[in-house]
Amino acid sequence: MAAAPFLKHWRTTLERVEKFVSPLYSTDCNLRGRWWTCWFRVELTIPEAWVGQEVHLRWESDGEGLVWRDGEPVQGLTKEGDKTSYVLTDRLGEGDPRSLILYVEVACNGLLGAGKGTMIAAPDPEKMFQVSRAELALFHRDVHKLLVDLELLLGVAKGLGEDNQRSFQALYTANQIVNVCDPAEPETFPAAQDLASKFFGQRGGESQHTIHAMGHCHIDTAWLWPFKETVRKCARSWITAVQLMERNPEFIFVCSQAQQLEWVRNHYPGLYARLQEFACHGQFVPVGGTWVEMDGNIPSGEAMVRQFLQGQNFFLQEFGKMCTEFWLPDTFGYSAQLPQIMRSCGIRHFLTQKLSWNLVNNFPHHTFFWEGLDGSRVLAHFPPGDSYGMEGSVEEVLKTVAKNRDKGRTNHSAFLFGFGDGGGGPTQTMVDRLKRLYNTDGLPRVQLSSPGQLFSMLESDSEQLCTWVGELFLELHNGTYTTHAQIKKGNRECERILHDVELLSSLALVRSTPFLYPAAQLQGLWRLLLLNQFHDVVTGSCIQLVAEEAMCHYEDIRSQGNTLLSAAAAALCAGEPGPEGLLIVNTLPWKRTEVLALPRPGGAHSLALVTVPSMGYAPVPAPTSLQPLLPQQPVFVVQETDGSVTLDNGIIRVKLDPTGRLTSLVLVASSREAIAEGAVGNQFVLFDDVPLYWDAWDVMDYHLETRKPVLGQAGTLAVGTEGGVRGSAWFLLQISPNSRLSQEVVLDAGCPYVRFHTEVHWHEAHKFLKVEFPARVRSPQATYEVQFGHLQRPTHYNTSWDWARFEVWTHRWMDLSEHGFGLALLNDCKYGSSVRGNVLSLSLLRAPKAPDATADMGRHEFTYALMPHTGSFQDAGVIQAAYSLNFPLLALPTPGRAPVSAWSAFTVSSPAVVLETVKKAETNPQDHTLVLRLYEAYGSHVDCWLHTSLPVQEAVLCDLLERRDPAGHLPLRDSRLKLTFSPFQIQSLLLVLQPTPELSP
Ligand SMILES: [Zn+2]
Repeated sequence: MAAAPFLKHWRTTLERVEKFVSPLYSTDCNLRGRWWTCWFRVELTIPEAWVGQEVHLRWESDGEGLVWRDGEPVQGLTKEGDKTSYVLTDRLGEGDPRSLILYVEVACNGLLGAGKGTMIAAPDPEKMFQVSRAELALFHRDVHKLLVDLELLLGVAKGLGEDNQRSFQALYTANQIVNVCDPAEPETFPAAQDLASKFFGQRGGESQHTIHAMGHCHIDTAWLWPFKETVRKCARSWITAVQLMERNPEFIFVCSQAQQLEWVRNHYPGLYARLQEFACHGQFVPVGGTWVEMDGNIPSGEAMVRQFLQGQNFFLQEFGKMCTEFWLPDTFGYSAQLPQIMRSCGIRHFLTQKLSWNLVNNFPHHTFFWEGLDGSRVLAHFPPGDSYGMEGSVEEVLKTVAKNRDKGRTNHSAFLFGFGDGGGGPTQTMVDRLKRLYNTDGLPRVQLSSPGQLFSMLESDSEQLCTWVGELFLELHNGTYTTHAQIKKGNRECERILHDVELLSSLALVRSTPFLYPAAQLQGLWRLLLLNQFHDVVTGSCIQLVAEEAMCHYEDIRSQGNTLLSAAAAALCAGEPGPEGLLIVNTLPWKRTEVLALPRPGGAHSLALVTVPSMGYAPVPAPTSLQPLLPQQPVFVVQETDGSVTLDNGIIRVKLDPTGRLTSLVLVASSREAIAEGAVGNQFVLFDDVPLYWDAWDVMDYHLETRKPVLGQAGTLAVGTEGGVRGSAWFLLQISPNSRLSQEVVLDAGCPYVRFHTEVHWHEAHKFLKVEFPARVRSPQATYEVQFGHLQRPTHYNTSWDWARFEVWTHRWMDLSEHGFGLALLNDCKYGSSVRGNVLSLSLLRAPKAPDATADMGRHEFTYALMPHTGSFQDAGVIQAAYSLNFPLLALPTPGRAPVSAWSAFTVSSPAVVLETVKKAETNPQDHTLVLRLYEAYGSHVDCWLHTSLPVQEAVLCDLLERRDPAGHLPLRDSRLKLTFSPFQIQSLLLVLQPTPELSP
């Protein structure tokens, strides 16, 4: 039952309802929201004289259409997708009804949105859409066939060229057809057809290359249109594919993204049942294994695992089997950890084509082994035609053979045909062309095929393939690491919240009998986060409407996540003897001593230095006991007469000039200076940022030529917190006439890094803001964190492969180290970064204007931190520090009782191994089994012990889909498990918990 009006307020209630239907106001969120559709009722009568003939409804409208007949969708109509007719009947029978009623639903967007002027411009709310044709027509299939043949013959003649015998045969066959065929006399058509058949029936030799043609339809889950339009795009595209599958039993259609299938299941159950039926016949082939085609750079390691976990489980449940290939044709680069994640999710094959978009270097392979960070290998294939939207022309078929960079090594390749990006998919004409090219001398063999068939051929013939090691970096779209900073921040925060909720809920499950693990709710929140990791959402390359929706999704995850955290905290403390109050929780797998702001009665906060054990909790220290808890040296803050400020916590000493720039950063124990001689750090810089075309996507190399340091005014630096457990200084900086920032530079007692809390009011056009730190370090390579590990990239521009990586991505930290010393730059929500020479640079904000003219305008808050260290970054604890910055200690109110002593659930004996995830297994709700995911983070072989205080009955290794490893039983001794890791290896284990007495029968 919906809520009653909260107050007796006639006017607001009335106006609320009026606004909900208004065509003028609130159209961004009301029933008349600008992404709507209109319906046409089409009454038609077919003339009696047309009996015995094929009859079509021809429909042309600017907006994409969907024909409904007898309550079910039957055909998508998209002018740009070459779909302008619906086959009413193949052959009108004598007694067939000739009067019909259809409905056509027309959207207010074309195939690629509704941009004003150019495709990627922001949508035009004033745009008018017209229906320009709605008529009945007779379809002459014999003419259509001749047209297809003549087009193909011309394609062969032109494609093979004047040096080629077969080219002339094609040309002269076409010429003969023109001689024989009289368009006014259909009786002449069969003779013409025979000529074509004779040509296409001349077979090729055994050595012919085989092209595996697969129908495909890339549908961006949101991009230049909102999520809900994608639901309709799926229906329009897939019902059309169903028609093609019906008419062409050899036609195979491959389809990715579980989320889209789930939408169709919920909104178009009739269509969904047909898809399942065709999946049984092997004509509809689900591929990819992931929830959506996510970005390959930004999502965390755990989020990537969940893409597969949610996706593969969906495919198994709905289609009876999991996918065997990872399918990501259109994503902006591919993490070096993907091969390991794929293999542990039951996938050994990978397909994309996006690296053909490289602006600088041609990727050297089309079929190769891709070896990941840990050494896992998968078989990768890039369709050599460099497209996922082929149309079946001879030109494309020839290009596929000619461009293949693995000639002689493999004789098979993929050919993905069908309109894509905005959906659309294949047409009957494309299928007709490809069927005709089945096996013709002079051309490659064309087989309507499936990814399974293609990869098994590639696999059987793989001895000669080359290997590519490490990430597949896309030399384009490097602005997507930064664009739409709020989306990036939402993504990082929500990854953290779900991590924390899963851990605390798992612990609560063990410690409190009545606690119910919120499995269904967590699945919903994870799916929402995964949805927004789609490759045009988390990347920021979407329209304003989509960005707003993403922000709402993140808000949902935050608010529901916080509620779940409180519930878990309350359950954790149930049965504790202490007083009601706060629970201090550490969700990371190592003991931490940090300064935390604790809420005090009356709404105030007080700073306390607290120690919390690994993945556990501690009671709140009483205010009076604060000082004895200070083993560390307090922080000293001194402002000099020239306005500069020094912060010193005995570990590092930070010197800021009177404008807030960093003039010195000294590691106290070794007296080592981290800032380059004569240089300053924390230097904000502005660049002109005008890409060639893809505005939100690209930052071009030439932006580096426009570097302008932002200079502040002396005297703006002031002391904030005066020292003790925390010291800070803050300043204001006018970035430009329109934009400004304020920053608090914070140093805590005992903390090895200095934090920079930054607030920016950003109102720019085509500018790029970064912050730079020139380090007193020399190294030809810098290290960047990636999913479950890290990798090196060059700091120089020696070769084109080096300089093409002038802007790269990282996760929570980057590091520049020489032997014995280094400087790490940590962040809490940024991804764009670079190190050139000795300068570490973090990309902060961009200001692109398409496809969202409002992208990044307004207020931002983010934190980065700087950590100098001796030794290696591994031994210095950079990885742990970056985790701490991203997973603050939690102070959770406990409505019940709070504990009086500290408690830890898990500890790991080696700092090289990170216990990343603790969650309940995806099994039945009664089953008390936890999943733990750990990875080796240093890049080393290591043995370690996992200690737990939980009542474990059985421990067994499993894969990322939580399937038991039959040989993976781990003996449990003294509450400890021994684990062995190789560099960057991810391991998951199932911990079956002992039933608590209350649960036993
Ligand atoms: Zn795409």
